[in-house]
Amino acid sequence: AGRVLRVQGLISEVEAPDKSVYQCATRRLLKTMSTDSRHVVAAGDHVWFRPSGDTEGIIESVEPRYGVLSRTSRSRQHIIVANVDQLIIVGSAAEPGLKPNLIDRYLITAEYSGIRPIICINKVDLLDPAQLQTIVGVYGSLGYEVHLVSAKEGIGIDRLRKALHGKDTVLSGQSGVGKSSLLNAIEPGLNLRVNAVSRENDKGKHTTTTATLIPLATAGHVIDTPGIRQFQLWDIIPEEVAGLFRDIRPFINHCRFPNCTHTHETDCAVKDAVADGILDTRRYESYCQIFAGDSA
Ligand code: GDP
Ligand code: ZN
Repeated sequence: AGRVLRVQGLISEVEAPDKSVYQCATRRLLKTMSTDSRHVVAAGDHVWFRPSGDTEGIIESVEPRYGVLSRTSRSRQHIIVANVDQLIIVGSAAEPGLKPNLIDRYLITAEYSGIRPIICINKVDLLDPAQLQTIVGVYGSLGYEVHLVSAKEGIGIDRLRKALHGKDTVLSGQSGVGKSSLLNAIEPGLNLRVNAVSRENDKGKHTTTTATLIPLATAGHVIDTPGIRQFQLWDIIPEEVAGLFRDIRPFINHCRFPNCTHTHETDCAVKDAVADGILDTRRYESYCQIFAGDSA
Protein backbone atom coordinates (compact mmCIF):
# COMPACT_ATOMS: atom_id res chain seq x y z
CA ALA A 1 0.00 0.00 0.00
CA GLY A 2 1.24 3.50 -0.73
CA ARG A 3 0.32 7.14 -0.76
CA VAL A 4 0.90 9.41 -3.72
CA LEU A 5 2.85 12.41 -2.46
CA ARG A 6 2.76 14.13 -5.82
CA VAL A 7 2.40 13.56 -9.53
CA GLN A 8 4.84 14.93 -12.05
CA GLY A 9 3.98 14.14 -15.61
CA LEU A 10 3.68 10.38 -15.87
CA ILE A 11 5.58 9.65 -12.68
CA SER A 12 3.99 9.50 -9.24
CA GLU A 13 6.01 9.77 -6.08
CA VAL A 14 4.64 7.10 -3.77
CA GLU A 15 5.28 6.88 -0.03
CA ALA A 16 5.39 3.35 1.39
CA PRO A 17 4.22 2.60 4.96
CA ASP A 18 7.86 2.61 6.11
CA LYS A 19 8.13 6.15 4.66
CA SER A 20 10.48 5.16 1.85
CA VAL A 21 9.59 6.80 -1.45
CA TYR A 22 9.18 5.13 -4.84
CA GLN A 23 9.01 6.75 -8.27
CA CYS A 24 6.13 4.94 -9.89
CA ALA A 25 4.72 4.60 -13.36
CA THR A 26 1.12 3.56 -13.80
CA ARG A 27 0.09 0.21 -15.20
CA ARG A 28 -1.25 0.62 -18.72
CA LEU A 29 -4.50 -1.20 -18.08
CA LEU A 30 -5.28 1.20 -15.26
CA LYS A 31 -4.83 4.15 -17.59
CA THR A 32 -7.32 2.88 -20.14
CA MET A 33 -9.92 2.20 -17.45
CA SER A 34 -10.16 5.88 -16.66
CA THR A 35 -12.24 8.16 -18.86
CA ASP A 36 -9.85 11.02 -18.20
CA SER A 37 -6.31 9.78 -18.51
CA ARG A 38 -4.99 12.72 -16.55
CA HIS A 39 -6.92 11.49 -13.60
CA VAL A 40 -5.66 8.04 -13.28
CA VAL A 41 -3.53 8.98 -10.32
CA ALA A 42 -3.76 12.18 -8.27
CA ALA A 43 -1.76 13.62 -5.40
CA GLY A 44 -3.08 12.17 -2.16
CA ASP A 45 -4.33 8.94 -3.73
CA HIS A 46 -4.16 5.75 -1.70
CA VAL A 47 -2.75 3.21 -4.13
CA TRP A 48 -1.49 -0.34 -4.39
CA PHE A 49 1.87 -0.55 -6.06
CA ARG A 50 4.48 -3.16 -6.91
CA PRO A 51 8.12 -2.20 -6.31
CA SER A 52 10.30 -2.93 -9.35
CA GLY A 53 13.50 -1.81 -7.67
CA ASP A 54 14.68 -0.10 -4.50
CA THR A 55 13.19 3.24 -5.51
CA GLU A 56 10.92 2.40 -8.44
CA GLY A 57 7.59 0.74 -8.88
CA ILE A 58 4.35 0.37 -10.77
CA ILE A 59 0.96 1.53 -9.48
CA GLU A 60 -1.53 -1.29 -9.86
CA SER A 61 -4.72 0.28 -8.52
CA VAL A 62 -6.18 3.39 -6.93
CA GLU A 63 -8.50 3.29 -3.93
CA PRO A 64 -11.81 5.23 -3.96
CA ARG A 65 -11.30 8.89 -3.07
CA TYR A 66 -12.78 11.10 -0.36
CA GLY A 67 -12.13 14.76 0.51
CA VAL A 68 -11.23 15.83 -3.01
CA LEU A 69 -10.22 19.37 -3.87
CA SER A 70 -10.72 19.89 -7.57
CA ARG A 71 -11.32 22.58 -10.09
CA THR A 72 -12.97 22.53 -13.46
CA SER A 73 -11.29 24.20 -16.34
CA ARG A 74 -12.34 23.92 -19.96
CA SER A 75 -15.04 21.47 -18.80
CA ARG A 76 -12.51 19.00 -17.46
CA GLN A 77 -12.27 18.28 -13.80
CA HIS A 78 -8.77 18.52 -12.42
CA ILE A 79 -8.12 16.89 -9.09
CA ILE A 80 -5.74 19.04 -7.11
CA VAL A 81 -5.51 16.66 -4.18
CA ALA A 82 -7.50 13.68 -2.94
CA ASN A 83 -8.16 12.23 0.50
CA VAL A 84 -7.76 15.42 2.49
CA ASP A 85 -8.83 15.08 6.13
CA GLN A 86 -9.01 18.70 7.10
CA LEU A 87 -8.65 22.28 5.94
CA ILE A 88 -7.08 24.67 8.39
CA ILE A 89 -8.36 28.13 7.57
CA VAL A 90 -5.78 30.60 8.80
CA GLY A 91 -6.67 34.22 9.46
CA SER A 92 -4.94 36.82 11.58
CA ALA A 93 -6.32 38.95 14.37
CA ALA A 94 -4.46 41.99 13.04
CA GLU A 95 -1.93 42.94 10.35
CA PRO A 96 -3.82 41.99 8.20
CA GLY A 97 -7.10 42.30 10.13
CA LEU A 98 -9.53 39.41 10.30
CA LYS A 99 -11.69 38.88 7.21
CA PRO A 100 -14.66 36.78 8.35
CA ASN A 101 -16.09 36.77 4.83
CA LEU A 102 -12.95 35.04 3.62
CA ILE A 103 -13.27 32.48 6.42
CA ASP A 104 -16.86 31.83 5.28
CA ARG A 105 -15.67 31.24 1.72
CA TYR A 106 -13.14 28.67 2.84
CA LEU A 107 -15.78 27.08 5.06
CA ILE A 108 -18.18 26.49 2.20
CA THR A 109 -15.39 25.01 0.09
CA ALA A 110 -14.65 22.59 2.92
CA GLU A 111 -18.35 21.75 3.31
CA TYR A 112 -18.67 21.27 -0.45
CA SER A 113 -15.64 18.99 -0.60
CA GLY A 114 -16.50 16.98 2.50
CA ILE A 115 -13.34 18.13 4.25
CA ARG A 116 -13.43 19.03 7.95
CA PRO A 117 -12.66 22.72 8.41
CA ILE A 118 -10.71 24.08 11.37
CA ILE A 119 -10.49 27.82 11.97
CA CYS A 120 -7.20 29.19 13.19
CA ILE A 121 -6.76 32.84 14.10
CA ASN A 122 -3.10 33.80 14.40
CA LYS A 123 -1.39 36.89 15.87
CA VAL A 124 -3.59 37.02 18.97
CA ASP A 125 -0.60 38.70 20.64
CA LEU A 126 -1.54 41.85 18.72
CA LEU A 127 -4.89 42.48 20.39
CA ASP A 128 -7.05 41.81 23.40
CA PRO A 129 -8.54 38.32 22.78
CA ALA A 130 -11.85 39.63 24.15
CA GLN A 131 -12.23 41.44 20.82
CA LEU A 132 -12.46 38.07 19.10
CA GLN A 133 -15.14 36.71 21.41
CA THR A 134 -18.11 37.39 19.13
CA ILE A 135 -16.58 35.82 16.05
CA VAL A 136 -15.26 32.82 17.98
CA GLY A 137 -18.71 32.43 19.55
CA VAL A 138 -20.46 32.36 16.18
CA TYR A 139 -18.16 29.74 14.68
CA GLY A 140 -18.02 27.72 17.88
CA SER A 141 -21.81 27.56 18.05
CA LEU A 142 -21.84 26.18 14.49
CA GLY A 143 -19.65 23.32 15.65
CA TYR A 144 -16.43 24.49 14.05
CA GLU A 145 -13.19 23.98 15.95
CA VAL A 146 -11.51 27.35 16.53
CA HIS A 147 -7.88 27.91 17.51
CA LEU A 148 -6.61 31.23 18.78
CA VAL A 149 -2.86 31.18 18.34
CA SER A 150 0.29 33.21 18.12
CA ALA A 151 3.20 31.78 16.17
CA LYS A 152 5.32 34.56 17.61
CA GLU A 153 4.48 33.99 21.28
CA GLY A 154 3.92 30.25 21.02
CA ILE A 155 0.30 30.55 22.16
CA GLY A 156 -1.95 27.63 21.23
CA ILE A 157 0.76 25.87 19.21
CA ASP A 158 0.69 22.60 21.18
CA ARG A 159 -3.03 22.23 20.60
CA LEU A 160 -2.66 23.06 16.91
CA ARG A 161 0.16 20.52 16.55
CA LYS A 162 -2.13 17.89 18.05
CA ALA A 163 -4.84 18.81 15.53
CA LEU A 164 -2.40 18.10 12.68
CA HIS A 165 -1.08 14.85 14.11
CA GLY A 166 -1.88 11.85 11.93
CA LYS A 167 -4.05 13.91 9.60
CA ASP A 168 -3.63 15.14 6.05
CA THR A 169 -4.09 18.86 6.26
CA VAL A 170 -4.42 21.69 3.78
CA LEU A 171 -3.49 25.10 5.15
CA SER A 172 -5.21 28.06 3.52
CA GLY A 173 -5.35 31.76 4.12
CA GLN A 174 -4.34 35.04 2.57
CA SER A 175 -0.68 35.87 2.45
CA GLY A 176 0.78 37.53 5.54
CA VAL A 177 -1.50 35.85 8.09
CA GLY A 178 1.39 33.67 9.28
CA LYS A 179 0.98 30.26 7.65
CA SER A 180 4.73 29.81 7.24
CA SER A 181 5.40 31.01 10.77
CA LEU A 182 2.82 28.57 12.13
CA LEU A 183 4.28 25.63 10.22
CA ASN A 184 7.69 26.51 11.60
CA ALA A 185 6.32 26.75 15.13
CA ILE A 186 4.59 23.38 14.78
CA GLU A 187 7.61 21.57 13.37
CA PRO A 188 10.97 23.19 12.68
CA GLY A 189 11.97 22.57 9.08
CA LEU A 190 8.42 21.90 7.85
CA ASN A 191 8.06 25.42 6.54
CA LEU A 192 11.35 25.06 4.69
CA ARG A 193 10.18 21.87 3.01
CA VAL A 194 6.87 23.48 2.04
CA ASN A 195 8.61 26.49 0.58
CA ALA A 196 11.04 24.35 -1.38
CA VAL A 197 8.06 22.60 -2.99
CA SER A 198 6.22 25.84 -3.70
CA ARG A 199 9.20 27.32 -5.51
CA GLU A 200 9.62 24.19 -7.56
CA ASN A 201 5.93 24.23 -8.47
CA ASP A 202 6.14 27.86 -9.56
CA LYS A 203 8.59 26.93 -12.27
CA GLY A 204 7.01 23.83 -13.74
CA LYS A 205 3.94 24.51 -15.81
CA HIS A 206 2.56 21.02 -15.32
CA THR A 207 2.74 21.02 -11.56
CA THR A 208 1.13 24.35 -10.72
CA THR A 209 -2.35 22.92 -10.24
CA THR A 210 -1.32 19.78 -8.42
CA ALA A 211 -0.43 19.53 -4.80
CA THR A 212 2.39 17.97 -2.81
CA LEU A 213 1.99 16.09 0.45
CA ILE A 214 4.80 16.91 2.86
CA PRO A 215 5.22 14.28 5.58
CA LEU A 216 5.10 15.48 9.18
CA ALA A 217 7.87 14.17 11.43
CA THR A 218 5.44 11.91 13.28
CA ALA A 219 2.31 11.00 11.32
CA GLY A 220 0.28 12.84 8.75
CA HIS A 221 1.02 15.31 5.99
CA VAL A 222 0.76 18.99 5.30
CA ILE A 223 -0.50 19.58 1.78
CA ASP A 224 0.77 22.54 -0.08
CA THR A 225 0.21 24.16 -3.40
CA PRO A 226 0.36 27.84 -4.20
CA GLY A 227 -3.07 27.45 -5.82
CA ILE A 228 -4.72 26.27 -2.63
CA ARG A 229 -3.12 28.88 -0.44
CA GLN A 230 -4.80 31.67 -2.33
CA PHE A 231 -8.46 31.15 -2.43
CA GLN A 232 -10.95 30.77 -5.24
CA LEU A 233 -14.47 29.43 -5.05
CA TRP A 234 -13.97 26.58 -7.42
CA ASP A 235 -16.97 25.07 -9.11
CA ILE A 236 -19.60 26.07 -6.54
CA ILE A 237 -22.67 27.56 -8.21
CA PRO A 238 -24.54 30.40 -6.42
CA GLU A 239 -27.65 28.26 -5.84
CA GLU A 240 -25.57 25.79 -3.84
CA VAL A 241 -24.13 28.36 -1.45
CA ALA A 242 -27.03 28.62 1.03
CA GLY A 243 -27.00 24.87 1.63
CA LEU A 244 -23.30 25.04 2.45
CA PHE A 245 -23.84 27.56 5.26
CA ARG A 246 -24.56 25.39 8.29
CA ASP A 247 -26.63 28.10 9.93
CA ILE A 248 -28.65 28.99 6.82
CA ARG A 249 -29.29 25.43 5.65
CA PRO A 250 -32.09 24.64 8.19
CA PHE A 251 -34.22 27.50 6.86
CA ILE A 252 -33.94 27.15 3.10
CA ASN A 253 -36.81 24.72 2.66
CA HIS A 254 -39.24 26.96 4.49
CA CYS A 255 -39.23 29.89 2.08
CA ARG A 256 -42.35 30.68 0.07
CA PHE A 257 -40.62 30.18 -3.28
CA PRO A 258 -38.83 26.90 -3.85
CA ASN A 259 -36.16 28.70 -5.91
CA CYS A 260 -35.75 31.46 -3.31
CA THR A 261 -32.28 33.01 -3.39
CA HIS A 262 -32.80 34.50 0.10
CA THR A 263 -31.74 37.93 -1.13
CA HIS A 264 -34.76 39.98 -2.27
CA GLU A 265 -37.77 37.64 -2.10
CA THR A 266 -40.78 38.07 0.15
CA ASP A 267 -41.66 35.40 2.72
CA CYS A 268 -38.09 34.22 2.93
CA ALA A 269 -37.43 32.05 5.98
CA VAL A 270 -33.75 32.97 5.92
CA LYS A 271 -34.44 36.70 6.00
CA ASP A 272 -37.03 36.15 8.72
CA ALA A 273 -34.42 34.32 10.77
CA VAL A 274 -32.07 37.28 10.44
CA ALA A 275 -34.86 39.69 11.44
CA ASP A 276 -35.69 37.52 14.46
CA GLY A 277 -32.05 37.46 15.54
CA ILE A 278 -31.79 33.68 15.08
CA LEU A 279 -29.31 34.00 12.25
CA ASP A 280 -26.17 36.07 12.61
CA THR A 281 -26.43 39.21 10.46
CA ARG A 282 -22.79 39.19 9.47
CA ARG A 283 -23.00 35.58 8.31
CA TYR A 284 -26.09 36.43 6.26
CA GLU A 285 -24.32 39.39 4.65
CA SER A 286 -21.42 37.13 3.90
CA TYR A 287 -23.82 34.74 2.18
CA CYS A 288 -25.27 37.58 0.08
CA GLN A 289 -21.79 38.66 -1.05
CA ILE A 290 -20.79 35.14 -2.02
CA PHE A 291 -24.13 34.55 -3.76
CA ALA A 292 -23.69 37.76 -5.76
CA GLY A 293 -20.20 36.62 -6.78
CA ASP A 294 -18.52 39.61 -5.14
CA SER A 295 -14.90 39.11 -4.18
CA ALA A 296 -13.99 38.99 -0.51
P1 GDP B 1 2.25 33.69 5.33
O1 GDP B 1 2.33 34.58 4.14
O2 GDP B 1 0.82 33.38 5.67
O3 GDP B 1 3.08 32.46 5.24
O4 GDP B 1 2.79 34.56 6.58
P2 GDP B 1 4.25 34.59 7.27
O5 GDP B 1 4.45 33.39 8.12
O6 GDP B 1 5.26 34.87 6.24
O7 GDP B 1 4.09 35.83 8.25
C1 GDP B 1 3.82 37.16 7.79
C2 GDP B 1 4.32 38.17 8.81
O8 GDP B 1 3.58 38.04 10.02
C3 GDP B 1 5.78 37.97 9.18
O9 GDP B 1 6.38 39.26 9.30
C4 GDP B 1 5.73 37.28 10.54
O10 GDP B 1 6.85 37.59 11.34
C5 GDP B 1 4.46 37.87 11.14
N1 GDP B 1 3.85 36.97 12.10
C6 GDP B 1 3.60 35.64 11.94
N2 GDP B 1 2.99 35.12 13.02
C7 GDP B 1 2.85 36.14 13.91
C8 GDP B 1 2.29 36.23 15.24
O11 GDP B 1 1.80 35.28 15.84
N3 GDP B 1 2.31 37.46 15.82
C9 GDP B 1 2.83 38.55 15.19
N4 GDP B 1 2.80 39.72 15.85
N5 GDP B 1 3.38 38.49 13.96
C10 GDP B 1 3.40 37.32 13.33
ZN1 ZN C 1 -35.38 32.38 1.16
